[in-house]
Amino acid sequence: MFKRLIGILTFCCSVLFLSSGFCQEWQELNSQHFRVFFSKDKDFLKFAKEVLDKAEKYYSQIAQDLGYPRYSEFWTWEKRVKIYLYSDHNSYLKATGQPEWTKGVADYKNKQIISYVWNEGFLDSLLPHEMAHLIFRDFVGFKGEIPLWLDEGVAQWSESEKRKEYKRIIKRLFEQDLLISLEDMMKLDIRTVKTTDRIYIRSIRMRDGKQGTLLVSGNVLVDTYYLQSVSLVGFLIERFGSDNFAHFCRQLRDGKGLEEALKSVYPTYLRSIQELEDRWRDYLEKL
Ligand SMILES: [Zn+2]
Repeated sequence: MFKRLIGILTFCCSVLFLSSGFCQEWQELNSQHFRVFFSKDKDFLKFAKEVLDKAEKYYSQIAQDLGYPRYSEFWTWEKRVKIYLYSDHNSYLKATGQPEWTKGVADYKNKQIISYVWNEGFLDSLLPHEMAHLIFRDFVGFKGEIPLWLDEGVAQWSESEKRKEYKRIIKRLFEQDLLISLEDMMKLDIRTVKTTDRIYIRSIRMRDGKQGTLLVSGNVLVDTYYLQSVSLVGFLIERFGSDNFAHFCRQLRDGKGLEEALKSVYPTYLRSIQELEDRWRDYLEKL
């Protein structure tokens, strides 16, 4: 498979700390949990208002989906999240020094999201995605070993408008025996995969239970990894509920390994990565 299978993913870039100073004059709009800064150059007021409005809506939706019902006081007053909107992609790149393929960045430590004024994709996709990264990180902290697939899965799951499409594509990959085995996925640091023409060899589980091998380009591997991530999170939340999911994340936060956390929260169904894969595949079968 050399062609890009999936055109719907948002690849974001998350950093612990962004040191670039923003030497720009800003206009500012505030709400209960957010401060939106936008460029003074042109009149971006309408867009900034829309951002503020959507951000508040996503805030409660994401916290509820992830099972954090008492989250409402987290981002008030001086803890409000800052959203910086540059006037275009170039100014954003120049100010942040981020790779050219990114459209926005979440800065965990300073609780800020930096992007630029673009309608298509920002409000429905990038904004909930980056907010979910920040909310999730607030919840799980930095000490526990949080697998990357869980972090990215949570962020993509919050892009609720895309859930249907994710399910449609993962079902197709499942039916064609193109999914990477979970064991392989757990070992893979997707950040080291450069999306070039290089071919990667991964192990897969076939629908008949046998092991197989998959030859894929870097692009397809990254797409598949991201899709499996969101599908696993969707499976855990839809099949076992948000409260159990929050409990599971709390176990990881408190230092438990993945299998240990699964075992303690889902003791009847998911006692190992193997069982997680088996039950997830049952779920895909019925999608
Ligand atoms: Zn992300």
